[in-house]
Amino acid sequence: MLNFFMPTRVLSGINCLKENSNILTGLGSRAFIVTGKKSSSQNGSLNDIITILEQNNIHYTLYNEINSNPSIQEVQDAAKIAKKTNPSFIIGIGGGSPLDAAKAIAILATNDLDEKQLFTGIYSEAPLPIIAVPTTAGTGSEVTPYSILTDYINETKKCISSPTIFPKVAFLDARYTMNLPTEITINTALDALSHALEGYLSVKATTISNIFAEKALTILGKALPKTLHHLTIDDREDLLYSSMLAGIVIAQAGTTAAHAMGYSLTFYKDIDHGKANGLVMYEYLKFINNHQHELVNKVLSLLQLKTLDDFGILLHNLLGTTPKLSIDELNLFVAKTFQSPNVSNTNPVPNRHDIENIFRNSFIIE
Ligand code: NAP
Ligand code: FE
Repeated sequence: MLNFFMPTRVLSGINCLKENSNILTGLGSRAFIVTGKKSSSQNGSLNDIITILEQNNIHYTLYNEINSNPSIQEVQDAAKIAKKTNPSFIIGIGGGSPLDAAKAIAILATNDLDEKQLFTGIYSEAPLPIIAVPTTAGTGSEVTPYSILTDYINETKKCISSPTIFPKVAFLDARYTMNLPTEITINTALDALSHALEGYLSVKATTISNIFAEKALTILGKALPKTLHHLTIDDREDLLYSSMLAGIVIAQAGTTAAHAMGYSLTFYKDIDHGKANGLVMYEYLKFINNHQHELVNKVLSLLQLKTLDDFGILLHNLLGTTPKLSIDELNLFVAKTFQSPNVSNTNPVPNRHDIENIFRNSFIIE
C-alpha cells in the first residue's frame, strides 16, 4: 500500500520570495519571524522577507536568538514571546535549527503543552502556518514534518513528528546560501546525503520516496566533490534542490541508525549534525552492504562511484581528520543510539555489537 503525503508548496529560484509575495499577504496581518543570531541578516533572506512584510502592512516581530541544535527550553521561551504578539503565522529563516525552532514555536503558540505533550505529535489546536526559508542546503526541514530539539535532561536530541508542522510554503533561493563557509557547506551537504541514503535503505522506503532518493543521490554524486572548491550559483542550486528532495525522502521513510548514532556525537562532542552522520556513514553502509549488497551497489552507482572504498575516500576527503573517542564515550554512545526510535527503521536492525563496530571503525578509540 502506498501512502505519500507532502503538503508543502515548494517555490524555488532566484527571487522566488519577491515574485510570490502574495502568498505571505494571504496569511494574516501579524508574522513572527524566527532566525539564528546573524546569518539571515547577512545573506539577504531576512531583508527580503521584511521588505515584503512592510510593503504589505504586515506587522512582524523578529526573534533572532535561535542557537544551533535548539533546545526544548529555548523554543518554550521563544513561544512565550510569540504568544504575546498574537501572530497569525510563523516565518522560519535559516539553517535547520531556526526552521525546526519555528515549527515547535508554531505548535506552542496555539497549544498549552508541557514537554511530554509537545513530543506526542497530537495537538488539539492546529499549529500556526509555517513559512520556511532555508539558508543551508542540508536538513530539508522545509519539507519535513519534523522538529528536532536538544533535550538537556536526557542528554540527547529528540524529534517531534507531526504532519501538522509540514511548512505551508518553502522558498528556496540559492542566493542565500552563496556565502556559506566551506565547512558548513560540506557538513550540511553530508546531512542531505545521509537523508537520501538512509531513506533509500530504510524499512519505510516506498516506490515514491525512492524516486526522490534516486534523484537526490544522482545530483549529490556530482555536487559533493565540488564542495571543496568555489561553488557557482548553479552548484548552490543543485545542493539546495537535492537537499529538499532528500527532505521529502525522510518525510516518508524516516532516518535510520546513522542519524541515531550522530545525536550523541553532536550532544557530547559538539560535532555538527551533518558531519556527525558523515563520520559514521561509510561503516554504516558497509554494515548494510553485508545484508543488502544489491541495494548498496545501486546507491554507489547513483553516486557515480565504483566501489564502497571510493565512497569511503569521498567521505574522508570531505571530513578531514578522524576524531577520537574514549572507551567510556564509545559505551555511552552505543547505549544512547538505541534510545532513538529511528534505529528500528534500519534494514536489518543492528544489534549492540553492530553499532559498537560501526563506532569503533569510524573513530580513533583511545
Ligand atoms: P544550523 O544549526 O541551522 O546552522 C549552522 C550555522 O550555519 C549557524 O552558525 C548559522 O548561523 C550558519 N548559517 C546558516 N545559514 C547561513 C548562510 N546562508 N551563510 C552563512 N552562515 C549560515 O545548521 P543546519 O545543519 O542547517 O541545521 C542543523 C539542525 O537541523 C540540527 O538541529 C538537526 O538535528 C536539524 N535537522 C532537522 C531535520 C528536519 O527534518 N527537521 C533534518 C535534519 C536535521 P546563524 O545562527 O547566524 O543563522
Ligand atoms: Fe539530518
